[in-house]
Amino acid sequence: MRDMTDDIAISLKAISKSYGGGVDAVSNLDLDIREGEFFSLLGPSGCGKTTTLRMIAGFEEPTAGRIGLGGRDVTWAPPHKRDMGLVFQNDALFPHRTVHQNVAFGLRMRRLPAAEIAARVAAALAQVQLTGFEARHPGQLSGGQQQRVALARAIVIRPRVLLCDEPLGALDRKLRASMQFELKELQRELGVTLIYVTHDQEEALTMSDRIAVMNGGRIEQVAAPDTIYNRPATRFVADFIGEATLLSGAVVRGAEGVHLALSGGLRLPLPGSMAPMAGAERTVAIRPERITFSGDGAGLPGHIVDANFLGTATLYKTRLDNGALALVRLPAASGEARPGPGDRVALSIPPDAIVPVASGPAA
Ligand code: ATP
Repeated sequence: MRDMTDDIAISLKAISKSYGGGVDAVSNLDLDIREGEFFSLLGPSGCGKTTTLRMIAGFEEPTAGRIGLGGRDVTWAPPHKRDMGLVFQNDALFPHRTVHQNVAFGLRMRRLPAAEIAARVAAALAQVQLTGFEARHPGQLSGGQQQRVALARAIVIRPRVLLCDEPLGALDRKLRASMQFELKELQRELGVTLIYVTHDQEEALTMSDRIAVMNGGRIEQVAAPDTIYNRPATRFVADFIGEATLLSGAVVRGAEGVHLALSGGLRLPLPGSMAPMAGAERTVAIRPERITFSGDGAGLPGHIVDANFLGTATLYKTRLDNGALALVRLPAASGEARPGPGDRVALSIPPDAIVPVASGPAA
């Protein structure tokens, strides 16, 4: 595979994996991951994230397709010839060995001189902020510290690529947030290409340079977090990442611009960029913080079904007069009278908040 450009660390070309019995875990995946990138595979349980990661690591052979590593075809190379470090959820450390021995293990296998092993283990432990913990056993560490030892064990061999499968999944919320920050910092510091598997959209949005959103063994969208959030390409991405209101209808071009003709005679003014879609049936997505209740009654009519106080905001579930559901998020403001369940409202949706979404990934 000589056609790959220099800054591509890993390249998947038309990768598929079937387990037999009709299970297509991954279907025809194309993906280029850049050198030094923090890249996440994000999607619901069973969408094929782990299978994809295991094929990149070499633990699983693809049924079809090629895998390139820095321009070298590694489709059939065994894991130890791929120069990758691995960190998994509940990564098993050797319980009867010390932190130092656990981290040194990979270097011993590579038969490095003792002095170099000592220096590299010390550096790796410093990088995960565990200097001073060398003599402890895993049972004497917290869950977060154990995960950091697993991370040190992976980075100490200075891999080209670090593969992480839900490495923070077992940690409580607070610890997870601080480890996310630390892992991101460490990745930047090391300049290593990192592929991160998670089903947690918030985690993927905060940490990644780019995200591939997967669904049913296919990629729905690959983009930077802000694009994934603000310009979701498909219905699935809009719905899986954060919250979205999805409305469908015919795109109609009239004297006063272009609008979406919703059922029940409701009209949603669309951005001018959607004019070329006139005549087609389309679904659009709108993020809840982009919708407000209009003061003058202009907008889509409906009523409030439910109001959820979230601390910094309130999320309103509303039902439009045609029966469609719409979500509205208003920032918290004290002393203001807020509508409640049952109240009539009109939803004001600026055209630039409206994103057309495809029904599924492009074939
Ligand atoms: P999770 O977040 O739950 O780990 P995932 O996105 O990582 O899910 P995979 O583990 O890649 O998903 O699984 C993808 C599909 O392949 C699932 O339908 C799963 O049941 C199936 N699968 C995975 N491993 C095997 C196997 N060894 N034999 C048969 N089917 C498998």
